Amino acid sequence: MADREHGKIAVSALACKDCGAPMYPDMTKGGMSCSYCGHFVPFAPTDEDFVPPMTFRHKPLEIVDGCLKLGHVAIMDKDALKPPPSVERRIRRTQLDEKIREYDASALDAINDEAYIEMNCPHCGKQLAPRLTDNIFTCPYCGQKFGDYDRLSTGDFDANLIVGRKYNFFGKCLPFHLSREEAAQAVASLRRRYMNDFADDNIEARAKDELIAAYVPVQLADLRWKMQVKSERGTFWFYQECLDWAWTRTLMFDAYLLDELAPWDYGELSILKPAYLEGNVRLFASQNIGEWQAAIPSFILQRKTPARLKAAFGIEQCELLQVSRDLRKHKFAFLLLPIYFLDCKKDAGENARQTRVMVNGQTGKAAGLVLDEGEDDVIRAIEPTTPYLFTKGGERTMFSPPMPVKYIKQPFLHERLRIEDAFEKPSGLGGFISKLFG
Ligand SMILES: [Zn+2]
Ligand SMILES: [Zn+2]
Repeated sequence: MADREHGKIAVSALACKDCGAPMYPDMTKGGMSCSYCGHFVPFAPTDEDFVPPMTFRHKPLEIVDGCLKLGHVAIMDKDALKPPPSVERRIRRTQLDEKIREYDASALDAINDEAYIEMNCPHCGKQLAPRLTDNIFTCPYCGQKFGDYDRLSTGDFDANLIVGRKYNFFGKCLPFHLSREEAAQAVASLRRRYMNDFADDNIEARAKDELIAAYVPVQLADLRWKMQVKSERGTFWFYQECLDWAWTRTLMFDAYLLDELAPWDYGELSILKPAYLEGNVRLFASQNIGEWQAAIPSFILQRKTPARLKAAFGIEQCELLQVSRDLRKHKFAFLLLPIYFLDCKKDAGENARQTRVMVNGQTGKAAGLVLDEGEDDVIRAIEPTTPYLFTKGGERTMFSPPMPVKYIKQPFLHERLRIEDAFEKPSGLGGFISKLFG
């Protein structure tokens, strides 16, 4: 918040020039508005204003002769069936602060800087002690907001607070709608709904004090896939797609847990100006994660498909036999998603039970993850208590139900089937017997 080397701290009130009422930073509008008279002051222009706008490149499904044309998922990808490498387990079990320490220790020091300044509120006179790293803070007595004068007028901020490199920090974001208190309530609902899974983990009490607000870098793409699956009812093919899928650009957060927070409303896309962020929000730059980047969509499909097919068709046993996937990236589609996050570990042991909780800072959807000693994990999610209203006609995550299909003829034409009709008839003697008795 302040120029500490020179010891200069020029605190400025965010007050309306016209009527003196407190002004509120509004990322959606890109400025500060007076809630009393409506006076508006735009944020200072920064580099982020010159980031090219996002261009969506959706390709609608083609229908020929009443059949779906699935040329984009024609080639089966053997790599998509490769399980995540064993190091993934270590990454998943490492707590956020440890990961940050390994990757960018100076950012962790900056984040954990507990230095305060002591001052009297210029508005009500009461004594305040804001954290030096907070850009904007609120007087708890009178509600007046304050910020560092230089930062507010230039839009500059302390780049040390970014985890990763500043030039990999994305300029677009979805604004936070949820306060920390509302996010803690979402965690409480999650725990009440899944008492058996989170019973002893104390996530409700800890969320009240320890939830971390963060901006997580992702890239938007249309992810579409065709799979052949073996189940207890037979083998079948299905096709499914997720439009505007948020493809994580960091390994700092659990990719499977983050994936549960969808849908996101991209109709609210705005420019991120960290200088005008209120309170303490952790900022994460895109991370160069090498081969992981391309493999993450496959890991997520492997991990999530059994549960999705169970929900859609009641299938209990599911083995993926063949996978073809198509990832169509949108243009300039890099952005930051607003989340709240909490890491809990029971004791120090390497395999100790761990619980992670994440809340969608835009919609209020909450998800939790339990990592126990074994290989299996548990992920639970709960929709927001008050449904979020999506921007009309705007881009958002769209998830189609799995659609059983059967190949008919060239070019890549597939018939849509009901699940009952999709199971492939066994050939040979088995087929003969099933014809007699089936
Ligand atoms: Zn005013
Ligand atoms: Zn005050």
